[in-house]
Amino acid sequence: MSYKNFPMVPRVVFGRGSFNQLSEIIAPKRLNVSAPFIFLVDDVFKGDAWLTSRIPLSYEDKVIYISSKEEPKTEQVDSLVEEIILTSSQGASGIIGIGGGTLLDLAKAVAIMLNNEGEAKDYQGWDLVKNPAVYHVGIPTISGTGAEVSRTTVLTGPKMKLGINSDFTPFDQVVLDPELTKGVPTNQWFYTGMDCFIHCIESLNGSYLNTFSQTYGDMAFQLCKEIFLEDHLSASDAQDKLMMASWHGGMSIAYSQVGVAHAMSYGLSYLLGTKHGIGNCIVFDHLEEFYPEGVKLFKEMKTKYSIELPKGICTNLDDSEFDVMINISLSLEPLWENALGKNWKKIITRDKLKELYQKM
Ligand code: NAD
Ligand code: ZN
Repeated sequence: MSYKNFPMVPRVVFGRGSFNQLSEIIAPKRLNVSAPFIFLVDDVFKGDAWLTSRIPLSYEDKVIYISSKEEPKTEQVDSLVEEIILTSSQGASGIIGIGGGTLLDLAKAVAIMLNNEGEAKDYQGWDLVKNPAVYHVGIPTISGTGAEVSRTTVLTGPKMKLGINSDFTPFDQVVLDPELTKGVPTNQWFYTGMDCFIHCIESLNGSYLNTFSQTYGDMAFQLCKEIFLEDHLSASDAQDKLMMASWHGGMSIAYSQVGVAHAMSYGLSYLLGTKHGIGNCIVFDHLEEFYPEGVKLFKEMKTKYSIELPKGICTNLDDSEFDVMINISLSLEPLWENALGKNWKKIITRDKLKELYQKM
């Protein structure tokens, strides 16, 4: 038996207002005055001076605003890399992602591809990256995905939705400033927060669980119950706790895996473009037989915040479309093995998956 030896984020700062320290954090990492820091920022912040006026720009540094309406694509990464190479002949000093999972994943992928030949799609998979990435910093503005701590960057490519999982993927620095999440709308807060909750349920109920993942998972699970089911937290307390729940949830799956909801939600996302958070919620709502306790709590949380999930998203699909989703889902073998054990192929058949998708 050989145990995973995985990298962790080496530096992290936590605290309300810690975003103001960004300038002093990155200054020593500048290679030279002609090698800029490139800030990839969710375009929801365009014109929001409260945040953008604090982005520390000097010399040739540049902000690129990016929409997170769609999840990151391999081609999008390639064109960002091209744009950066064309405008910074001396190379970039660093890539700084500011936003949700979408922007964090783009920042990680761009930092990798700036130092590796070819196209992003060539690196979707496990441990295919050869050279260390450019210095990269993650600054989440919404909590739940765990993308700030994970060893992957999830990309949709021409053939598959699969992450670039590598030792070079994790951020060199993370800035956890819960105050940055204050403007998140309730529905989105719920969907992305439930990503964290579902990470815990899938990790804690998986066959890959060990004490490392369990301790992180237990902590994140307790925090989620407090945040989404109890009433005593102040808004700022809830923001602080969800940011740490996301971190712990991410640490939990680092040493285990996600499970059924993620495997099925990737299918929805690939075919229909359903985003990760809401897609997980749509799927998880129908998974009582796999995660009875988790789904019961999820339904209570949904009711508490009057969340109405979309219904009938698979109603008009034809057989070939179901096949596409089922193929994507079944290709995620480690997720199924974690969820259902070594004999998962006997439990989750194509017909069973189709029947579940038809309910959604
Ligand atoms: P997101 O980044 O797609 O953002 C969701 C929405 O929230 C967007 O409309 C965005 O503009 C808005 N938003 C973000 N911060 C805001 C703020 N402070 N105020 C107002 N609006 C704000 O959402 P997400 O759920 O964080 O990320 C989903 C992505 O993360 C998916 O692409 C998924 O594949 C990826 N993901 C990656 C990992 C990983 O380990 N790398 C894990 C889980 C999910
Ligand atoms: Zn997730």
